[in-house]
Amino acid sequence: MGKITLTKLSQDELIEYIESLGEKKFRANQIFSWIWAKNASSFDDMTDVKKEFRALLQEKCQIFDCKIKTRQISADSTVKYLIEFSDGLCAETVLMRFDNRANLSMCVSSQIGCKMGCIFCATGKNGFKRNLLPHEIASQILLAQIDTGLKITNVVFMGQGEPLDNLENVKGALELINKNLQISIRRMTLSTSGIVPKINELSENNLIPTLAISLHAPNHQIREKIMPVEKKYNINELKKALLNYSSKTKDRVTIEYILIKNLNDSKECAKELIEYLKDLKCNINLIPYNSIDSQFQKPDKKTIMKFKYLLEESGKKVTVRLERGADIDAACGQLAGKIQ
Ligand code: SAH
Ligand code: SF4
Repeated sequence: MGKITLTKLSQDELIEYIESLGEKKFRANQIFSWIWAKNASSFDDMTDVKKEFRALLQEKCQIFDCKIKTRQISADSTVKYLIEFSDGLCAETVLMRFDNRANLSMCVSSQIGCKMGCIFCATGKNGFKRNLLPHEIASQILLAQIDTGLKITNVVFMGQGEPLDNLENVKGALELINKNLQISIRRMTLSTSGIVPKINELSENNLIPTLAISLHAPNHQIREKIMPVEKKYNINELKKALLNYSSKTKDRVTIEYILIKNLNDSKECAKELIEYLKDLKCNINLIPYNSIDSQFQKPDKKTIMKFKYLLEESGKKVTVRLERGADIDAACGQLAGKIQ
């Protein structure tokens, strides 16, 4: 029989398990805290657990069932990890520090591959392999904390995969990240391509993250060309779900808009976008397209700035997303999970 993986167990399950090995509840709580709060990478780190019991743990169980396979560090100090899971499949996760803030953000993956097929994105190009489990999502954060010795303060579900296509496990992960890793739900953001019924379901959850929506187009015609999800849940239905989410959470949603040269970067597009968003409480995040092949280009700087100014005239807050880690293919849409 394989070893028990401790990150898979809830605190109560861990207590039950440790008791079954002949130790007391307080010991289980110590171990729980070593794993989730004190970044233990091995049983030997658990210095207040007696040696004989550490040896027993070593024999019967393991802390993780995944590990860092490779680490790449970008010139802007963004770190991209390739994490290998127990079945040998891999996904990427990215650690970013934004210069002007003390926050350390982790961009986690929720699936291996993606089914959504957006044509500008590298993640879906190799197809879909499987959903990640709650502890596999949370472990991405733990492994990065162990590797860097730093505490992660913010989590964005913007790595590989469509989190709302794996909502049950993502709900479990939100819980682990909140309860076990002690990161406030207000510091978590989930980005989706727009699976409408799942957005509504998430708005009913007990832990509700900030919602970011991959809109990328101001109308049905353009969106349908680049995002197959538009055929199933169109931009008008999406709008209703966004209004509902924002009224339930009393929180602004983030509108993500990739700027692609000659596709969605015109003055007319900006105007149409303002019109679409006019009654929605939101911030707009413009993402200059990151190249994954030669099909699309990013607009020049002037076009990006002009688009930004036009949107700002509507009174909304507009930011242009910094390109992070492009030299190591860690920027948005570049995560393909390729093994070096
Ligand atoms: N599947 C979810 C979350 C992961 S993608 C979603 O689509 O929202 C994270 C963000 O990167 C999304 O906004 C996505 O649309 C964007 N993205 C994908 N490919 C990109 C590219 N080539 N250049 C810039 N951003 C891209
Ligand atoms: Fe999947 Fe998001 Fe990439 Fe679309 S942009 S293919 S939903 S990961």
